Amino acid sequence: MLIAHCSLLIVHCSLLKYLTIDRHQWHDRAITLTAEQERYLRRVLRLRDGDRFVALHGDGGWWLARLDPSGAIAEKPLPGNTELPNRIILLAGMPKGNAFDEVVRQATELGVGQIVPVQSDRTLLQPSDRKLDRWRRIVKEAAEQSERFVVPEVSDPVSFSVAVSSCIAETKYICAARQNAPSLLSQLLALPPEGRGTIAIATGPEGGWTEAEIATAIASGFTVVSLGARILRAVTAAIASISAIAAVAETFNSDVRINPESGGRAKKQI
Ligand code: SAM
Repeated sequence: MLIAHCSLLIVHCSLLKYLTIDRHQWHDRAITLTAEQERYLRRVLRLRDGDRFVALHGDGGWWLARLDPSGAIAEKPLPGNTELPNRIILLAGMPKGNAFDEVVRQATELGVGQIVPVQSDRTLLQPSDRKLDRWRRIVKEAAEQSERFVVPEVSDPVSFSVAVSSCIAETKYICAARQNAPSLLSQLLALPPEGRGTIAIATGPEGGWTEAEIATAIASGFTVVSLGARILRAVTAAIASISAIAAVAETFNSDVRINPESGGRAKKQI
């Protein structure tokens, strides 16, 4: 009975629009909408008072929400969880131009938990505040589109040495081409399920990492890994490595999931 109810709710919700509502927009069950959200729901989607959408809480979780003259009302939390069992932190050397837009979009679709833009020795991009705002907007759109349960965090850009020395993940890899290193997949498959925890993966900019950066990463507990014999573009390397981690995590570790409410682990909910 409960299962039938939940699956009906999930089918119903799959027809509804997901919209990210930041923490500061929630006042208990009352939601204040921004002018842009109000315009989107009412003019683009043509919703009226009483119509429903799925409010994706900026901190995690889905709520069935009803449009209301004062904004929206969160009616009830929805079941389900689309998050990966392991949290993934991407430390990405920023490629030049707009290439990082694709990294944040696709990494979000694949399930990344945090994206750290890294200023490395060979990074050419100096991102402006506008660029950072743009990446955070892209992450929200991608989280809504891919029905994420949590909106990933895009950190402020940091230097390579800060990124690796402050990384608190249990498992840490740095992708480097031409290093005769073991493959990322072989390393992931050798981990015991309970030993994977949060996984950090570092991928370099167009010019790659310097030897000194690789040595610093190793000293900070990172393992050097290969993504194959071919040289991948910076964007491809970031996406390929997250795909591999997500696939292994979901295949071998699907009975436990990160509970975004508590930050701890919970039994699989779907
Ligand atoms: N200029 C570098 C070279 O020729 O060796 C290649 C840099 S590559 C375009 C950008 C980043 O993608 C690298 O720093 C690395 O993190 C990652 N990458 C690309 N191909 C890789 C491979 N086959 N194995 C591991 N990492 C790779």
